[in-house]
Amino acid sequence: MNRKLFGLFLVFLIALPSLAYSKDYVVRRVIDGDTVVLESGETVRYIGVDAPEMAKKKGGAEFFAREATRFNKRLVLLKKVRLEFDQEKKDAYGRLLAYVYVKGVFVNGELVRQGYARAMIKPPNTRYKDMLISYQREAMEKDAGLWQEKKKDTERSYVGNKRAYTFHRPSCPSAAKIPPKNRIMFTTRTDPIKIGYTPCRRCKP
Ligand SMILES: [Zn+2]
Repeated sequence: MNRKLFGLFLVFLIALPSLAYSKDYVVRRVIDGDTVVLESGETVRYIGVDAPEMAKKKGGAEFFAREATRFNKRLVLLKKVRLEFDQEKKDAYGRLLAYVYVKGVFVNGELVRQGYARAMIKPPNTRYKDMLISYQREAMEKDAGLWQEKKKDTERSYVGNKRAYTFHRPSCPSAAKIPPKNRIMFTTRTDPIKIGYTPCRRCKP
């Protein structure tokens, strides 16, 4: 067998198990920019991204939420998708946590790259962390999508948690509980957001 053919044969052998196990799913409903429902009825929350919320308790949809939902629909609704899982297959609400692909498109990445979602790093599911953060940098530089909204700094500093990838106002009780080795200070709220930190749900910095 010539060398080239043998190479192809090897590639085929290596790809075989993934072909056998790759399963297609169909998206039946799009809830928002980062959550969908499959034909099986299971909900999928995209990993590594956070799209603006459609329905907050007061005040309706967040800035760019409708656009993000529409974009997500265009990518995945009623399409066959491939799901890739990271360390945890499900979250506390029983939703599947996945990287989603439609043909050659990495949906989680596209959402971030075009400014429809922020990169959100949540250990231990961090396989594409660096890629998502660099996509986000691209979107921020262009003021794409949700980055058109400029939020003012209301604090002189913010306290980050290096382990949880979250950040707080200095007065937040959760900030006081961060062990010194995991503590990191920021002077603007954009700095932690740039590297995939999520604002605390309690003190909402
Ligand atoms: Zn907080």
